[in-house]
Amino acid sequence: MLRTFAYVRPASVSEALKQIEGRGAHIHAGGTDLVGCLRDGVFEASTIVSLAKIDELRGIAVAPDGELRLGALATIAEIASHAAVVEKFAALSQAASLVASPQLRNQGTIGGNLCQRPRCWYFRGDYACTRKGGDTCYALAGENQYHGIFGGGACVIVHPSDMAPALIALDAKVRIVGPKGARVIPLEQFYVLPEKDATRETVLEPGEMVLGVIVPAPPAGQKSGYRKVRARGSWDFAMAGLAHAVTMKAGRVAGARLVLSGVAPAPWRLPAVEKLLVGQKLDPALIARAAAAAVAGAAPLGHNGYKVPLVRGLIEEVLGGIPPV
Ligand SMILES: Cc1cc2nc3c(=O)[nH]c(=O)nc-3n(C[C@H](O)[C@H](O)[C@H](O)COP(=O)(O)OP(=O)(O)OC[C@H]3O[C@@H](n4cnc5c(N)ncnc54)[C@H](O)[C@@H]3O)c2cc1C
Repeated sequence: MLRTFAYVRPASVSEALKQIEGRGAHIHAGGTDLVGCLRDGVFEASTIVSLAKIDELRGIAVAPDGELRLGALATIAEIASHAAVVEKFAALSQAASLVASPQLRNQGTIGGNLCQRPRCWYFRGDYACTRKGGDTCYALAGENQYHGIFGGGACVIVHPSDMAPALIALDAKVRIVGPKGARVIPLEQFYVLPEKDATRETVLEPGEMVLGVIVPAPPAGQKSGYRKVRARGSWDFAMAGLAHAVTMKAGRVAGARLVLSGVAPAPWRLPAVEKLLVGQKLDPALIARAAAAAVAGAAPLGHNGYKVPLVRGLIEEVLGGIPPV
C-alpha cells in the first residue's frame, strides 16, 4: 500500500524549487514511472511536487539559428510528431516514436524520460541491491538476460531511455536549475556510472530539477536515426539500440556520433568507433572493423551474451544503410 504523502502543484519553477528542497520530495511530471516506483516500494515520498501547472516548462521551439528547445514537460508524443523534429532531428523523433505505447507517450514527458529509474527487476523488486544502498548486485549471478555488457561492475542495470542516446548523438545539452542557480551541461555528462556511484543515475543534486533540453542545429548534411531492437514488436524497452548522427562529405565520413542503448548503465557512446570512421569511406571492410571495435571490451554476463552479436549487427546494419553523400 502507498504511504500517505502531501501533493503540491506549484505554479512556477521558483515555487517548485522551494518544494523539492525538502527530504522525501519527488517530482511528478507525467507520473508514468514515478507512480510505479512508489507502488513497487523502490522509494517512498513525503511530498509529491507536480509540475503540471508550470506552463514555462512546456513547449517545443526551433530558434532562428536552428537550435531545438524542448521544455521538460514536452510530451514524448509531441516530440515524436513535431514537424521540425521529424525533419531535422530524425534520431530524436524516431526514438520518441519507439518509446513504450501511445498512452505512455501521450502522458510521459522528456524530463521524466531522461530521469526515469532503471527497470532491473531486482531493483524494482524486494531486494536490497547495490543501487538501493545494499552490497549485492543480484543480477550479476541471477536473471541477467536484459542487463548490461558494458560499464557495469558494482551494478549491471541498463539505462532505460530511448531518447537519451538519440539526444546524445545529436550533441544535446540539458538545462538544470536548483538552489545554487542554473547550469547547462552536455547530456552526455548528465549520467553517472556505477564506478562513480551505484546508487544514483544522474548528476542531479538534491533540490535540482531539469528545465529542458537544447539540441544544436544539425551540421549541413548530417543524417541521424535511431534503430531499436526489442523482444516484442511494441511496448518494450530496448534489448539494444543504436542512435547515430553521421555527416558525409564527398563520399567520406566528416563527423560521427554513435550511442548505444540497452547495453550499459548509461547511454553508451562509442568514441573509438567514431574515430575509426572519420575521414574514411564507409565501405564493407571499414564497417566490419567498426562492428568489431564497438564490442571490444564487452563483458557479457551469464545470460546476455547475445547482446554482443546484436550490437555488431546494429553497427553493420546502420552504417551499411548510410548513403555515401
Ligand atoms: C510499460 C512501460 C514501457 C516503457 N517502455 C519504454 C521504452 O520503450 N523506452 C523508454 O525510453 N521508456 C519506456 N518507458 C518509460 C517511460 O518512457 C517513462 O515512464 C516516462 O518517460 C517518464 O516520463 P514521466 O513524465 O511520466 O515521468 P515521471 O514518472 O513523472 O517521472 C519519472 C522520474 O523522473 C523524475 N522527474 C520527472 N520530471 C523531472 C524533471 N523535470 N526534473 C527532475 N526530475 C524529474 C521524477 O521525480 C521521477 O523520479 C516505459 C514505461 C512503462 C510503464
